[in-house]
Amino acid sequence: MSRPGAARHAAAVLAAVALASGLGSTVARAAAHAAPRAPAAADSSAGFRVEKLATGVYALIRKEPLGLANHSNRLFIIGTRDVVVVDTPFTRSAAREEIRALRKLTPKPVRYVINTHWHDDHVYANQAYRDAWPGVEFIAQAHTREDLAKIGADNRRRQIEGGPDAIAAFREALATGTSLQGTPMSADERAAYRSTIAIATEYVAEAPGFQPALPTITFGDRLTLEHDGRTIEIRSFGRAVTRGDAIVYLPTEGVLAAGDLVDDPVPFSYGADALGWIAALDSLTALAPRVVVPGHGPVLQGDASIRALSRLLAAIEDGARVAAARGDTLAPTVASLHLDDLKPAAIGSNRMLDLLFTSYFAGPLVQAEFVRARARGPKDPSPARR
Ligand SMILES: [Zn+2]
Repeated sequence: MSRPGAARHAAAVLAAVALASGLGSTVARAAAHAAPRAPAAADSSAGFRVEKLATGVYALIRKEPLGLANHSNRLFIIGTRDVVVVDTPFTRSAAREEIRALRKLTPKPVRYVINTHWHDDHVYANQAYRDAWPGVEFIAQAHTREDLAKIGADNRRRQIEGGPDAIAAFREALATGTSLQGTPMSADERAAYRSTIAIATEYVAEAPGFQPALPTITFGDRLTLEHDGRTIEIRSFGRAVTRGDAIVYLPTEGVLAAGDLVDDPVPFSYGADALGWIAALDSLTALAPRVVVPGHGPVLQGDASIRALSRLLAAIEDGARVAAARGDTLAPTVASLHLDDLKPAAIGSNRMLDLLFTSYFAGPLVQAEFVRARARGPKDPSPARR
């Protein structure tokens, strides 16, 4: 009883919803919610955990299963006078809940919010921080400010317009027990669909009251805050996932907030440049972080996850470049890469993670790298830069 035409349309709309929302959040531990009609607030109120990483340094890790609408993680850096926050979530309601959690940690005001890139799951709720602390400053790489004002605003409009259809398709899929791919729905897919519906519904409902809160301070490749005796390094390494990716590093504490340069277990590649991304990851490895707070997913120890992602990106980029030099077309190139073999082990048999890896990370990245390699010239099998 599924309607393939409607499902395809819905999948396309959802893809648009997902474009800027990033595709992350915690690995689906996926305890399926018992009450599908529970209001969104009930879902998101238990949607995160707070982990202490060092004195005055806390990660807020989102717990929703990975879906097509997600919140990003937060870093709270509490000084003697005020607080620095990395990124804001995909809805203002989620931000207000997170702010309540922050207020349990400290009565101090938030002075700076650093946005790691323009995707709405990292910037949308800036407004909630401005409402709570009118003097707050927003910091981002200069390209991110430009992108927020143009492609960010366009993308937001498309997401809001397409949201209701996409949400309806997800509800129908849940009701019929058939995924948008036309297969019987697994438990992990059910949990991810429910979370996506809750978050997307909140996002669409909040749209009428949305007010942009663009960066008030921008930088090029580096900005260092000496914040209440603590050094906070904000760096950008050129185009990787976006052209304005920023990371935040606390050298004394060894804490790295990587934005979507590192997501776990599924990276998000839409618009990414593999070679630039690999170069950025080399720079992250050189920082030798003790812990990494990814844009989405659990806190990661050391740099193993950065190295693993770099190898994955290199395999995709190498494969696409060599195939383009051979004169292959795209379809045999994709087949020759054996993407299934490159999947992170943590994806396991989780069908939603599998879909996200194949359709939102590996597939688009192979295609983009193939097109780039062809544009550089068919006779050049060497990396453009490395
Ligand atoms: Zn994201």
